[in-house]
Amino acid sequence: MPYIGRFAPSPTGHLHAGSLITALATWLDARHHNGRWLLRIEDIDPPREVAGASESIINSLRAHQLEWDDTIQFQSQRSPFYEQALQQLREQNKLYACCCTRKQLRAIAETRHTHSYPGTCRDLDLPEGDSALRLRIDSGQVSIVDALAGPIEENVQHTVGDFIIRRRGPLFAYQLAVVVDDALQGITHVVRGADLLDNTARQVILQRALGYPTPAYLHIPLAVQADGRKLSKQTGAKPINNSDALCNLQFAWKFLGQQQPDADLGSVAEFLQFAVPNWRRDRIPATLQPISVAESSSNS
Ligand SMILES: [Zn+2]
Repeated sequence: MPYIGRFAPSPTGHLHAGSLITALATWLDARHHNGRWLLRIEDIDPPREVAGASESIINSLRAHQLEWDDTIQFQSQRSPFYEQALQQLREQNKLYACCCTRKQLRAIAETRHTHSYPGTCRDLDLPEGDSALRLRIDSGQVSIVDALAGPIEENVQHTVGDFIIRRRGPLFAYQLAVVVDDALQGITHVVRGADLLDNTARQVILQRALGYPTPAYLHIPLAVQADGRKLSKQTGAKPINNSDALCNLQFAWKFLGQQQPDADLGSVAEFLQFAVPNWRRDRIPATLQPISVAESSSNS
């Protein structure tokens, strides 16, 4: 079976210990399966972007010798493809404009005791203009089998309702961009952090609406700080030091529950040569609970 994987960071900061764990897991899973590994920069949300972060992430991947195939894809340059997908949905009457304000949505959620969108604007036939566009969901029932978490059942109509695929602005929503790119790049295997697990059902719904295949999913445990907060620039996670590449990779390898080499490996190239054939999915801690990096490093 062909394997095409990807690493898809958002340029909201430098690569840190947590994002390197994801990068290594996706790279190893692809290389272990003789697959291709693509790099996609998800720079679709300009206000959240940090100047220079894309270059910094790319440099760090190079320093850790996590080489990608093909050219790097930047979502900021792919608007025509996202627009095409929207048009396809529009023609199938699967889109509708929503003019609900945040305040209105909050009030609705409070009375209904759920954050799922009740379809307030579904049949109003509002003009699109620059407003948000929602996907009209017929059956929201999704069953997927995550390689680590096992079977997952979700009814998107109950959990989120008709969700937004173009934001007010207009801006393409993350869900749309990811689904379109995964399909057009022929991604067969998605390996990513467990923080994205609850996006998966929505993405499957969107894949179905657009007639795309659903890739295989593997969500790895999320690395968090000792206080439980996600590692990110906002929570003070330090950027990884590119001159400590071997050490960083060994740390990520251990976090992923993989077997330690018998002998010391002296270089990044040697380490990766050892790691590719020895990568074992079934050694990844099978938990959707976040794992603290402090805890992981003390259990040596
Ligand atoms: Zn609405």
